[in-house]
Amino acid sequence: MESHAKVVIIGGGVVGCSILFHLARFGWKDCVLLERNELTSGSSWHAAGQIHTISSDPNISRLQGYTIKLYEELEELSGQSVGLHSTGGFYLASNKDWYDYLKRERSKARYMGLDQEFISLEEVARLHPLIDPKRYIAALWDPLDGDIDPSGVTYAYAKAAKRLGASYHTHAAVIETNQRADGSWDVVTANGTINAEHIVNAGGLWAREVGHLSGLNLPVQPMEHHYLITESIPQIEEREERLPAGIDYEGNMYFRQEGKGMLLGTYEPIATPWSVRGTPQDFGHELLEPQLDHIAERLELGFERIPALADAGIKDMINGPFTFGPDGNPMIGPVPGMRNYWAAVGVMAGFCQAGGVGKCLAEWMIEGEPEVDVWAMDIARFGDYASPEYGTIKSTENYERRFILTFPNETLPRGRGQRTTSIYDRLTARGAVWADGFGLEHALWFADGPEDAHEDPTFRRSRAHDYVAREVKAVRENVGFIEIANFAKHSFVGRDARKFLDHVMAGNVPGPGRITLSPMLTPKGKLYGDLTIACLGEEEFMIFGSGAAQEMHRRWFESHLDGYDLQYRNESSRYHGFGLSGPKARELLSRLCRDDVSGEAFKFRDIRRTFVAGVPAILTRLSFSGELGYEIYVQPEYQLRLYEAILQAGEDLGLQHYGARALMSMRLEKSWGVWTLDFRPDFTAAQSGLDAFINWNKDFIGKQAAADERAAGPTIKLVAMTIDTDDIDVCNDEAILKDGVCVGYVTSGGYAHHVQQSMALGYVPTELAAAGTALEVEINGEMYAAKIVDAALYDPAGANMRG
Ligand SMILES: Cc1cc2nc3c(=O)[nH]c(=O)nc-3n(C[C@H](O)[C@H](O)[C@H](O)COP(=O)(O)OP(=O)(O)OC[C@H]3O[C@@H](n4cnc5c(N)ncnc54)[C@H](O)[C@@H]3O)c2cc1C
Repeated sequence: MESHAKVVIIGGGVVGCSILFHLARFGWKDCVLLERNELTSGSSWHAAGQIHTISSDPNISRLQGYTIKLYEELEELSGQSVGLHSTGGFYLASNKDWYDYLKRERSKARYMGLDQEFISLEEVARLHPLIDPKRYIAALWDPLDGDIDPSGVTYAYAKAAKRLGASYHTHAAVIETNQRADGSWDVVTANGTINAEHIVNAGGLWAREVGHLSGLNLPVQPMEHHYLITESIPQIEEREERLPAGIDYEGNMYFRQEGKGMLLGTYEPIATPWSVRGTPQDFGHELLEPQLDHIAERLELGFERIPALADAGIKDMINGPFTFGPDGNPMIGPVPGMRNYWAAVGVMAGFCQAGGVGKCLAEWMIEGEPEVDVWAMDIARFGDYASPEYGTIKSTENYERRFILTFPNETLPRGRGQRTTSIYDRLTARGAVWADGFGLEHALWFADGPEDAHEDPTFRRSRAHDYVAREVKAVRENVGFIEIANFAKHSFVGRDARKFLDHVMAGNVPGPGRITLSPMLTPKGKLYGDLTIACLGEEEFMIFGSGAAQEMHRRWFESHLDGYDLQYRNESSRYHGFGLSGPKARELLSRLCRDDVSGEAFKFRDIRRTFVAGVPAILTRLSFSGELGYEIYVQPEYQLRLYEAILQAGEDLGLQHYGARALMSMRLEKSWGVWTLDFRPDFTAAQSGLDAFINWNKDFIGKQAAADERAAGPTIKLVAMTIDTDDIDVCNDEAILKDGVCVGYVTSGGYAHHVQQSMALGYVPTELAAAGTALEVEINGEMYAAKIVDAALYDPAGANMRG
């Protein structure tokens, strides 16, 4: 065994082997994979082998397309058959909601370069005579879908990697991973130790145990999963052509041809987490006892929809475990807080996803960033709150909802209340409708008391619409109040704090008492943050940003700290707080604070430490609503006191609680984008318009790439559009069309209540980005006229905010 390697990958399932292949292919040959048993000895050997492109996240769908398109080439590169059957496949809707979902998927496919089209039910019956088409109302066809041989694929990745110069060892269980002072890892097996610059946890079913070797607790959970294989079916025996694959959403099941029979898999309505306290080390090429009663109901539905199955004998019933993460998506990337430790775990559809996971991880390791935004798979989207117990609860929920529709306004019920603030019960009593982000509850909108706090999931406007309108009106006319504990706060203290921020942030770093807005860029000029920098003292700074991205940003800051004399901390949980917004916000604040908060004494983008309602606070003059506004941050133990004082002082000013939905509506009419939607690593500063905040007179990460793009001009641009609709708004990811051709897509949108206009933000080619350009946006399969706006529809000069 080698004594040194650039990378050691732990785990020889499909995910580990794909990473090894991609690293070698992109130029890192000095990589070794260690497998405790034979390759495929976890989930990979007993997978059903069905492949499809659709996923909840467009970039994951895109990467699933990449994975499937790679198979033929992989066969050639490795000399190993992958058993690919490119039969094509359909996604079947048996009710209107699923039909709407499929229309939305087709809209996404237009810009993802995937070739999905609706086919008639007669066509479904022609392509798959075993299906009863009367059970369905629509079918979306994807020619990429089909099936592969799981072992063949895994071995093909490994063999191709070997041909490219990488190596793997079987029967080489990793028993220790010990980090040296230089950040490299000693990876210990019974046969020897390899010193590696980087290690990758691709332990699949044993991802938790591999994590424990390095002190890492992962919130992943293996789940039991069943599929059955029938005896030969006469109608199939008679055919020459292989049947297409299919997914029946309402039935929560997938099916395909296997031999001359069929394979039918289903996600049980009540899931069974497997080996909750840890995967046994001696579990190998084994299966679990089938639990027919767990899937009986779903099978009956399957027999109704594919009647030939009811008469076919069952040849094999498989129950095998595979690992889920808390939101059902993979967890990949550098683990925040650890050096040179990479994860590729919780990959629950390895044969659809492993190619994309391997590609992104290899790019990330070699080039420092993946080609596309992998936020939906980034392990940093979870933090400490995602405990192993939380992982089991959420993984179970996601398993049960595998093919169950989640509407854009829907929040999932399990694992809720993991993090709450001191006013949670008070806000609940006032009718708060909650969502969780990074484990923390925040109010979406306020109903008329707890009894009224409910909302039906829908693609259209919900009953919340009128309540949100009320909140927006109060902010625009009087004063509104929002809890902002969920904003991220990063602190930088020390001699080199300014120097450091000047290097990592592309914009101006403010002087004491002032605040600036700044993009943060990757070396390739992609957006990695859209952040608010505040200077509390010459050597003390605070950055406010996306709460969801706090660990992603922490990882970025920590990875650039070397050589600087400063202390960095993610203090998001150390400060909770409130935003006050509206024309009467100053009056309200002045009743709570002895400072002079007049427009001259406390200007727009000022910050100071002071006392508000008699408690120590960091007070800023900022607002994301586009109104005169303040943000007040206090340590959590003061939050309740401050809350009560604000309520009392605001009583005669028409003070209204408002939530995230109203805030999102108000920022739309200001044409402001938000992180994770409009601003993310898929886009650059010039494309997003955030280049307006760049300070070109200094050096910063990504400057060269940003300057090159500035010289050439961006090829696409973020624009704000009005959309002519009566009762429906975009929910993100809709196609934008010009003369019937897809030219871009919506990144966010909704209803702008004050200006009473449905709106969207999205990226279009620069030549179509001029104000007034007429476009179309496809919402639930219908085309709506859209027009690019010139300036913000509300207060374009910002007079209210600065006043
Ligand atoms: C019944 C069933 C049906 C499925 N059907 C499909 C399907 O149709 N399509 C699809 O895309 N996906 C399907 N899947 C999911 C798919 O099997 C998994 O997503 C995939 O196998 C995960 O691969 P992995 O490499 O992450 O994990 P694993 O396959 O579990 O591999 C992990 C490897 O790490 C090794 N290892 C663990 N600890 C150590 C250590 N300490 N040292 C060295 N090696 C170690 C293990 O021995 C193992 O080989 C199915 C799964 C099941 C259970």
